[in-house]
Amino acid sequence: MKIGVLALQGAFIEHMKMLQRLGVTAVDVRLPEQLDGLDGLIIPGGESTSIGKLARTYGLMEPLRTLAQEKALWGTCAGMILMAKEISSGSAGKDQPLLGIMDIVVERNAFGRQVDSFEVDLDVPALNNGYVKPFPAVFIRAPRLLGVKGTAKVLATLPDGTAVAAQQGKWLVTSFHPELTGDGRFHAYFLKLAEGNS
Ligand code: GLN
Repeated sequence: MKIGVLALQGAFIEHMKMLQRLGVTAVDVRLPEQLDGLDGLIIPGGESTSIGKLARTYGLMEPLRTLAQEKALWGTCAGMILMAKEISSGSAGKDQPLLGIMDIVVERNAFGRQVDSFEVDLDVPALNNGYVKPFPAVFIRAPRLLGVKGTAKVLATLPDGTAVAAQQGKWLVTSFHPELTGDGRFHAYFLKLAEGNS
């Protein structure tokens, strides 16, 4: 199994380490030809406007959309913003390129300045964890899901009901950063999607 991590900007090294720990070949992707032969791709956290502009500069936008038609794609934090079809009015950056793949509406920087970053124990039913072994979720200037449409479904919510993870077929988005916690269960879940087993 070979999984790419978009490595234009942001937290890509941690994703690669986690994939390697799970026994998978991890490829850092900066050019369209590096998408060939991948079983799936992770778009990491970082700054979504910068990642989008760099992806446009390197001619990656269309090749990424084409890859998504067949393969598993996971956007964490800024990656979730890039995968969305819609960003709530007011929260999108000026000239912010979007891949516009997934039927979700996302609000950027949704948690305000006071709680710029925080950690929460999440119940994620898809991981069958419950509150016995909650998933430690790290949020850093995170977006939230305002709407989940079509065949997309919410995978996890905060205790106040805010949706922070979703799935649509082979596509996964999380507002938080599973690569920063040392807990590989979300990566393992993504690998199952990439294998076509979930
Ligand atoms: N605030 C960033 C954005 O809107 C996302 C932050 C992150 O990826 N940790 O692009």
